[in-house]
Amino acid sequence: MLAPAGPVRSRGCVFKARTASLVFPGTPAVGRSRASTPARSDVGLGRQGTTAQVCTHYAVFVGVDLHRLSIHTMTTRPWSLAEAAQACARAGVGGVSPWVEHVEPIGVGEAARIIADFGLRVPAYVRGGFFVHSDAHERARAIERTRRLIDDARALGAESLVIVAGSQPGVALDDGRAMTCDALGVLVDHAAAAGLRLAVEPLHPMYAGDRSCVNTIAQARAICDRVGSPVLGVAVDVYHVWWDDRLEAQIEALGREGRLFGFHVCDFKPEPAHPLHDRGLMGEGCAPIREIRAMVERAGFDGMIEVEVFNRKWWATDQRTFLRAIIEAAHAHA
Ligand code: ZN
Repeated sequence: MLAPAGPVRSRGCVFKARTASLVFPGTPAVGRSRASTPARSDVGLGRQGTTAQVCTHYAVFVGVDLHRLSIHTMTTRPWSLAEAAQACARAGVGGVSPWVEHVEPIGVGEAARIIADFGLRVPAYVRGGFFVHSDAHERARAIERTRRLIDDARALGAESLVIVAGSQPGVALDDGRAMTCDALGVLVDHAAAAGLRLAVEPLHPMYAGDRSCVNTIAQARAICDRVGSPVLGVAVDVYHVWWDDRLEAQIEALGREGRLFGFHVCDFKPEPAHPLHDRGLMGEGCAPIREIRAMVERAGFDGMIEVEVFNRKWWATDQRTFLRAIIEAAHAHA
């Protein structure tokens, strides 16, 4: 698809949209063909592109409405929360999904002030859970930590707290899922009182051994059924679920049940250089991102599209360059 040719209005700003010339100068080529990429950007924080620029915000042609885009702070890991928030706001990106690792060093009050100053939405605070331990004392600690993160998420103005169930070698996966149910059963009333949703994120089965015993949307839905709270739902991350042959039916069910709380995008590289830190930028791998986005939107999801890429190669680059590449990739592939 190509961009519309006329002026496009966004947040009161107008610039002239062109098509092929809107690819950023200096942006690394990634993934699939960019022949029809319509993105453009002024994310270089003062850098002048080749197109007429009237303001630092820019609009959406096809792909992703930037106001619906949120960047996980772990995506731009080298940046502080303040740096990430400033860059996102200047780029016209509508939201930020802060990670605990970027919030706790500065304190939740300061983090909330930064986010509010830049007027960003917070679709999710990332992440609580890790409830699976053979030791009951450790399970109780995980519940208390998540209870505190619920309070912090509220202070940040977050709409949800992402929950990763946890897993421990030696604890059967079924037992782990039972521990997760027990923990969430303790926490849902606290989340409801805080006006916060808890979004269980199934992780790819390759993480079943030590990170999450919840590996499919079906398993996450079963936990939701068992706990039975309207504040408990599921975050769908294309990286973790793209392979599931029941994906479309599961996403439809989430929509019917009112449990589709989050949507995360990146790409799945078949031969990652690192088990955790070589997620692809959209277009660098084999996940059918657009098709999955269409599934979640058919299921009624109209929340933010959260970019969650952990990638050492990208972390080693100028993060402003990376942010431009993220926006381009979102337009082209999400
Ligand atoms: Zn995710």
